[in-house]
Amino acid sequence: GLSAESYRRRHEISVTGDNVPPPFTSFESTGFPSEILREVHNAGFPAPTPIQAQSWPIALQSKDIVAIAKTGSGKTLGYLLPGFIHLKRCRNDPKLGPTVLVLSPTRELATQIQDEAVKFGQSSRLSCTCLYGGAPKGPQLRDIDRGSDIVVATPGRLNDILEMRRISLHQVSYLVLDEADRMLDMGFEPQIRKIVKEVPPRRQTLMYTATWPKEVRKIAADLLVNPVQVNIGNVDE
Ligand code: ADP
Ligand code: MG
Repeated sequence: GLSAESYRRRHEISVTGDNVPPPFTSFESTGFPSEILREVHNAGFPAPTPIQAQSWPIALQSKDIVAIAKTGSGKTLGYLLPGFIHLKRCRNDPKLGPTVLVLSPTRELATQIQDEAVKFGQSSRLSCTCLYGGAPKGPQLRDIDRGSDIVVATPGRLNDILEMRRISLHQVSYLVLDEADRMLDMGFEPQIRKIVKEVPPRRQTLMYTATWPKEVRKIAADLLVNPVQVNIGNVDE
């Protein structure tokens, strides 16, 4: 097999952090359970994308991670599949609140993430709820009451529901900030900070972003602990 260094060079992967594990260059080398491997084979994917190959082994070590890669590079499964493994390790009662929380900037993106979570997570019997603005709260509140392992939410709507005290985040132990740069551009920083205050500090935090400007570096420094950083290609600041 290809050595870690030559795989990274070939795919323009650079890593910063202590004892960064080698990338998973094939699905088989991930050790993912068979029901998850079956889903990626059904999807017709030939191999992990570079961001998946390098961020999966880091995420599976329960380390915090900052992943910087452009749109279309497969970031969603980059955090969802290790999130599924995390859920298998710590089976909480979903009625008491989600274990995995994904924050996403828009309704459209949140819905796409939920679709991926349902497609790749249903054979693992994982449940997912999506919360976003511009739609009535009633059905979303009913979904929360039914219980979900995973909640995908836009910061504005989740913050509204938190203020109504209709969701608890005290069981969240795997927190994803997806498209962090876009969430900050859209002015969601205050809502993100309020939400994260409701999540216990003993958690794994993963941040995915397409660019790495100083506002994103600042919130990463505040919310993540000793993260491993993974860059794919050139990084826009
Ligand atoms: P990003 O979040 O980086 O913009 P997405 O996670 O939305 O990218 O993935 C882009 C597309 O690539 C999606 O249609 C997704 O299903 C597909 N995809 C994800 N992983 C793989 C893979 N390993 N091989 C081929 N296609 C993949
Ligand atoms: Mg994405």
